[in-house]
Amino acid sequence: MLFELFGNSPVVGGRTHLWYWIIFVVLGVGGSAACDPDDPIIALLTYDEASDAYVMADVAVTTLSDVERMKGDATALIGGADVTLDYEESTMTWHDPGHSVAFSAINEDGVLVPEDYDSLAMASIYYNIESSMLFFESLGFDSSKVDIPTYYNPKFTIIKPDGSSDADEEVAEDNAFYMYMTKKDQALFILPFDQFQWVPLPLNTGIITHEYSHAAFDILIPKPDRPGDMSNAAENFLYGVNEGFADFMAVARTRDANFMEHTAEEGVFITECNENTQIELVRDASIPIDYTETRHDAPARNTDHAEFCPYDVGSFLSSLMYEIAGELDQPSNRAEALDQTAEWLVKAMGDLGKVLSADFELWQLISLFIERVDSDANRVKACSVVEKRYSLYYSNVEGC
Ligand SMILES: [Zn+2]
Repeated sequence: MLFELFGNSPVVGGRTHLWYWIIFVVLGVGGSAACDPDDPIIALLTYDEASDAYVMADVAVTTLSDVERMKGDATALIGGADVTLDYEESTMTWHDPGHSVAFSAINEDGVLVPEDYDSLAMASIYYNIESSMLFFESLGFDSSKVDIPTYYNPKFTIIKPDGSSDADEEVAEDNAFYMYMTKKDQALFILPFDQFQWVPLPLNTGIITHEYSHAAFDILIPKPDRPGDMSNAAENFLYGVNEGFADFMAVARTRDANFMEHTAEEGVFITECNENTQIELVRDASIPIDYTETRHDAPARNTDHAEFCPYDVGSFLSSLMYEIAGELDQPSNRAEALDQTAEWLVKAMGDLGKVLSADFELWQLISLFIERVDSDANRVKACSVVEKRYSLYYSNVEGC
């Protein structure tokens, strides 16, 4: 999630995760696939790496089959949905399933210029999901397995599990998230924005890539195949890996270590997860993080999964990957090194899906990543970063 309104699978399984406002980040522009002359060209706000800013650009959107309804291979946008997520009862109730959206644009010399904010936002969301999908495909991931609709500006009501008879109810805003509802039912939700208006959430490419990565995570490590008897610590570490994976993929996709800064000011703190913790919204993967007993290890081992905030472990993993990318012998170009590192991480995640155990530990994922590193020279570089940042359990990491 962008800001995490709640945890991973709030509805299924009956656990009452309640976490608000957590965030992730990223941006990216992206490599569009080969252009077909029939592909619609749309004027959108996109991230420009050179100036580290969002700028208007005419982009080809290559997978749209119905531009007026914003439907295509990447996703289908759905407007007007009305849903209540009840953490007390662990239910999700659809009052209105929503309907197709209407994209409105003026054709200026072959470029579709959105006529209103919603049309700009919807086209940006579609494009950001498409570019995330194409990025994952370029790393060898079978993105055809991610088949999710996107709910645009739904009315999303949350009933908090406060234990009292008077449910604490709120209509959520300023968030974007992926949700796994059932084995056959997953979706992205883009809520109306209110406070974060520098680059509205749906227009921030990194945020959308972060959310798309959660959907990919559920393909790489299928929920139905995960051990049913995972220890509390194993679940927490896996949750942290999910967030770190999403953050790093967003960073790699956008080439922007600090993708969230375009949407939220540094120094903005939000209540996270268990309502007792304040975290800073903006996370910068280029700032190295040492894995520590107090900040990372003990919370993961000692916090009940329903109360666990995964973002510290996630930020550690994301910054670790970013630092490794910066140390590689080949490729030495930063952008290519991020792609290469992302590819190894995606493959390691797929490997993890095949061997995930009930007592999963973070070093197992790091070991699988090291296994995927393509040369002795790069492995030495990667291991030296792991030794420096993950000294607590470095001796458990295999392949170094
Ligand atoms: Zn997330």
